[in-house]
Amino acid sequence: MDFSKHFNRHSSSLTIMGDMRKDNVSERFMIVLKTDDKVIDPKKSPYAPGNEAMTNPSVLSLVAKDGMLQRLQDNEGESFVKNWAIRVFESKNPIVSIDTENSYSDKPFYSEPAYGYHYIVVASPNEKDTFATIDTEQWSNVLVVVQDRLRWLYTQKGVTYVSIYADHGELAGNVNPHPHLHILTFSTIPPVIETESESSHKILNEKGVCPICQTINEEIGGPRQVLQTEGFIAYCPWAPSYPYEFWISPKKHVTRFSKITQKEINDLSLILRATLGGLSKTIKNVSYNLVFHLSPEKKNSRQIHWHIEVYPITKSWSGLERGYGIFLNDVSPEQAAEILGAASRKELANLVGIM
Ligand SMILES: [Zn+2]
Ligand SMILES: [Zn+2]
Repeated sequence: MDFSKHFNRHSSSLTIMGDMRKDNVSERFMIVLKTDDKVIDPKKSPYAPGNEAMTNPSVLSLVAKDGMLQRLQDNEGESFVKNWAIRVFESKNPIVSIDTENSYSDKPFYSEPAYGYHYIVVASPNEKDTFATIDTEQWSNVLVVVQDRLRWLYTQKGVTYVSIYADHGELAGNVNPHPHLHILTFSTIPPVIETESESSHKILNEKGVCPICQTINEEIGGPRQVLQTEGFIAYCPWAPSYPYEFWISPKKHVTRFSKITQKEINDLSLILRATLGGLSKTIKNVSYNLVFHLSPEKKNSRQIHWHIEVYPITKSWSGLERGYGIFLNDVSPEQAAEILGAASRKELANLVGIM
């Protein structure tokens, strides 16, 4: 069989890197990655202080000075801001790019440019830190920086959605253990958010209540609650895809993360730090993905009650998960909530200083 003939027919689409393709049947997206950046010294963390030259210059370096936080940025090619607590820069291995080729193709081989911005937020100068060891004040700083970037990104052309996520541990797909988040934008709404917002609007129109508000009302104080703070609840969802999966959501109906106040950010930091601490105490060397499910802020018809989802990765998927979308769990969400709840309450007590 002559494969070259077949490949030549589509050679133009095979050579374009940085495009986002959509499957004609499942509507799933995939991105063909660019892999230009080969400058990696395995002994050096590019995200550690002193190695700033290994990354792009910072667009924001948060520096604590005299009890105040200063917002500085690197001067390109000249000097790097030192003693930063948090550092934000454009990824050197961007998944999306604003320099992508402007090429589209039609169904059945639909593709569009993987156009967007990809920022890295380094959550601590200490590479030994994790999201479960940084203190709540540092978590608040991280969230303030994320909120700031999000607001700016939604003023940019070609930004329809801002996705924010963190991967912890090798099983979760993380290659650099230095704690960091990704902020990356798309010119279309990602399928999972599209599904959530469509179903939210359908239920809201039919029943007059947002499905997340409806769920939270039932989960407060129930068998799947992990933890509550003043404004937030953490709970294991009724039908989780992963053992020990939990979600964090404002108790009130809030659709815009960009509008939450400093007080709410501090409250969110507390529940994030306490639950991630609880998770790390529950599962040794845990790997997890943490994703923000936020509204596409420019599309009024697509608003969702925002929340954070945490997926601990404890085992590989089987054919049933991958091939049919039916998930097998060896821990029920009720058992998981009980164990995570006890561990998270202990963390919370340590954080707020009552024991
Ligand atoms: Zn709601
Ligand atoms: Zn969600």
